[in-house]
Amino acid sequence: MAYDFDLFVIGAGSGGVRAARFAAGFGAKVAVAESRYLGGTCVNVGCVPKKLLVYGAHVADELEQAAGFGWTLEEGHFDWGTLIANKNREIERLNGIYRNLLVNSGVTLLQGHARLTGANEVEVDGQRYTAEHILIATGGWPQVPDIPGKELAITSNEAFYLKDLPRRVLVVGGGYIAVEFAGIFQGLGADTTLLYRGDLFLRGFDGSVRTHLKEELEKRGLNLQFNADIQRIDKQEDGSLKATLKDGRELVADCVFYATGRRPMLDNLGLENTGVELDARGYIRVDEQYQTTAPSILAIGDVIGRVQLTPVALAEGMAVARRLFKTEQYRRVDYQNIPTAVFSQPPIGTVGLTEEQALEAGHKVQVFESRFRAMKLTLTDIQEKTLMKLVVDAETDKVLGCHMVGPDAGEIIQGLGIALKAGATKQQFDETIGVHPTAAEEFVTMRTVTR
Ligand code: FAD
Ligand code: NDP
Repeated sequence: MAYDFDLFVIGAGSGGVRAARFAAGFGAKVAVAESRYLGGTCVNVGCVPKKLLVYGAHVADELEQAAGFGWTLEEGHFDWGTLIANKNREIERLNGIYRNLLVNSGVTLLQGHARLTGANEVEVDGQRYTAEHILIATGGWPQVPDIPGKELAITSNEAFYLKDLPRRVLVVGGGYIAVEFAGIFQGLGADTTLLYRGDLFLRGFDGSVRTHLKEELEKRGLNLQFNADIQRIDKQEDGSLKATLKDGRELVADCVFYATGRRPMLDNLGLENTGVELDARGYIRVDEQYQTTAPSILAIGDVIGRVQLTPVALAEGMAVARRLFKTEQYRRVDYQNIPTAVFSQPPIGTVGLTEEQALEAGHKVQVFESRFRAMKLTLTDIQEKTLMKLVVDAETDKVLGCHMVGPDAGEIIQGLGIALKAGATKQQFDETIGVHPTAAEEFVTMRTVTR
């Protein structure tokens, strides 16, 4: 049977755009449907605008440090409206770049909601298209627990478009988004409280990292409330929000921001018209090559709920394009040793196993840990400490994990990701000449076993 397209991609986000562009480059006839915004979550309401706001908040640090370097500054004034307008302009520019990337690579771009009407058929705005392969790359959506008053809360989607910077913010959650936005709000001047339901936030990260970040955030005056969860939210007469916690305490704020995870975006996708099944957590079930339980339909990115990071969605998109249209170049995505950063203030950079994971996996573990005050702070009164940690297999000398909390952690960890992928040993770290004077050189000069 002749199809309209070789590949029909649903969702022009990180994974969908990558798969569509490369498939077209390999000679396939490709369409992509996008209902909301080109570039998806990352470009519009994720990584990019988030990082721009983090830069904005970080300026406060630079201003605080300035006096130590001899600068006298007038009283600073921050204008949220300017930051958001400038951010919006940059996002629009990126939307245009994504459009050009797709169109110039020969992809047919359809703007509208796509719904599966069969295993080889998609409907967009009443028009039906057939395709030999269909790729679901519809991403995710914030998930807010079902409590009374949840409609009064916002999520990251709305935070990027707030008219004003709230004076008092309650951030709920203890994952990437909660920690990053708590830093943004607080850095820009809001009185910020982070509420997390467990004992310590960032579950799954290395224990030293979690504790160190907690201490540093407290030093900065962020109000951290662990073992705390909101039972209900009520609007008060003066317009403020009252959050009643499960332990009976009441907190008042102008904004309640929920970052309690994301669900797969499957709304009105028409999966019932196909044989696509979901896994136990509600994400699309795929095999190792991203094929769903309907053989002509594949899925990648946040909607399969593996590792919800843009570079992972990109790698999966590339793998699908190659698998379908350039088989000889197909390589499986390696989910081991994925470097990642949390853009908190100070940021976290991490790659490989945490100390806890290494022990659990049965490794005989050597830990090298260093805490120091960064050189840049020595002319200031700021007492912030940087943490660097290596988790090493005592028997093979292989470095299993690198973890950092401190300035530029994301930048530093990228290079260490290559070292871990190459299987570097602690001896090879030791034999690597440092770059002096940097904080990063600490990773090649840690000699004494801490544990
Ligand atoms: P998405 O990028 O979400 O794209 C899905 C697209 O599909 C969307 O454009 C959507 O509109 C479209 N769509 C959905 N349904 C339909 C339909 N039926 N028809 C047509 N179109 C449809 N990751 C990092 O690596 N680093 C970061 O710093 C980072 N920061 C983040 C900050 C925030 C606040 C958030 C929310 C996420 C962040 N992420 C970050 C995660 C990253 O954004 C996602 O992992 C990534 O965008 C997933 O890509 P995707 O292709 O799976 O989906
Ligand atoms: P996460 O899954 O990272 O964290 C969710 C947090 O919310 C956890 O602390 C979780 O607690 C808590 N939580 C979940 N359900 C509830 C509930 N019902 N009540 C109270 N608390 C709850 O999700 P995020 O929303 O922070 O981010 C989604 C994903 O996006 C991230 O996992 C990451 O993959 C990606 N991302 C990446 C970024 C980066 O690379 N820098 C930045 C932002 C997002 P518990 O641990 O107890 O389950």
